[in-house]
Amino acid sequence: MRILTYSVMFYMSLALIWWTILLSKNNAELFSAKAAQLDKNLAGYNEAYHSLKVFHDRKAKMILGEGFVFGCMLIIGLYVLQRMFNKELDAAQRQKNFLLSITHELKSPIASVNLITETLQKRELDKEKRHVLLDNILSESKRLEKLINNLLLSAKLQTAYQYNFEPTEMNDFVDHQINRFRTLNPGLTIRFERQKEIFYPVDREAFDSVLVNILENAVKYGGDQPVIDVALTENEEAVIFQCMDYGIGISKEDKTKIFEPFFRVGSEDTRKTKGTGLGLYIAGRIVRAHKGRIEISENQPTGSIFNVILPK
Ligand code: ADP
Repeated sequence: MRILTYSVMFYMSLALIWWTILLSKNNAELFSAKAAQLDKNLAGYNEAYHSLKVFHDRKAKMILGEGFVFGCMLIIGLYVLQRMFNKELDAAQRQKNFLLSITHELKSPIASVNLITETLQKRELDKEKRHVLLDNILSESKRLEKLINNLLLSAKLQTAYQYNFEPTEMNDFVDHQINRFRTLNPGLTIRFERQKEIFYPVDREAFDSVLVNILENAVKYGGDQPVIDVALTENEEAVIFQCMDYGIGISKEDKTKIFEPFFRVGSEDTRKTKGTGLGLYIAGRIVRAHKGRIEISENQPTGSIFNVILPK
């Protein structure tokens, strides 16, 4: 399709140039022929020549003008087509990434659970080993549950989620989630200092997943031993939740794309981390429902800073 369209466009451009040159040449020849027919000795020759020249000059300008307008329309058309093609390719790539990741994400915990259960069935293990294996089953099934929850939540957000905004003390809210993360990830350092009380009306259930998704990403993409700085501040205009990591960072080009559903940086084959590309899409939608926005900036020396800005 792309080649065919560009070929047609190319042919049209050539035809346009050719016709412009041909018509201009014709016009000039017609003018010379008509001027030669004028009798130089006749009274009023100058006026007649002048009006002939004005007429043909105008015609020449018209030809060039029309050629120019048509050329501009061709360029705009080409630009619009190019964007459409790129969007289509992006969507196809995202769809492919999604299918690959969802298949992997759904299959791998089920395979683990099956394998562990079979091991437990077949072998007589001591209490400690059984305990480790049962822990693994639990964590795999929790992973599966999270994925399904994310899928359901994003479907719900697209259709009929009813927000319930309640005044909430944000320090407590953030602190609670951070403590959960600390318990779940023993090697992780999260620094957060409580400031004065900040009240803001949030949908607690929905906003919880904003925090979870942003913090989870900071852990996932924050390097081998992630260190995360969290801050909660308030000014006259907004309440700002800030999450800083020191990991791989996000390129300028990907900063807007990562909020699209199923978008993951890089390709599924090269990516080591697990995920579906739904987390930030969900977070972005929820923050927008709170009339807020998420801004990303670069951290120093490396990493990203996610700012969730909730206007008052
Ligand atoms: P997932 O993490 O499940 O892939 P998300 O929607 O949460 O999906 O994130 C989309 C993509 O944005 C991720 O795949 C990752 O490439 C990138 N990303 C998100 N947060 C960070 C971060 N803190 N540092 C670097 N890259 C990030």
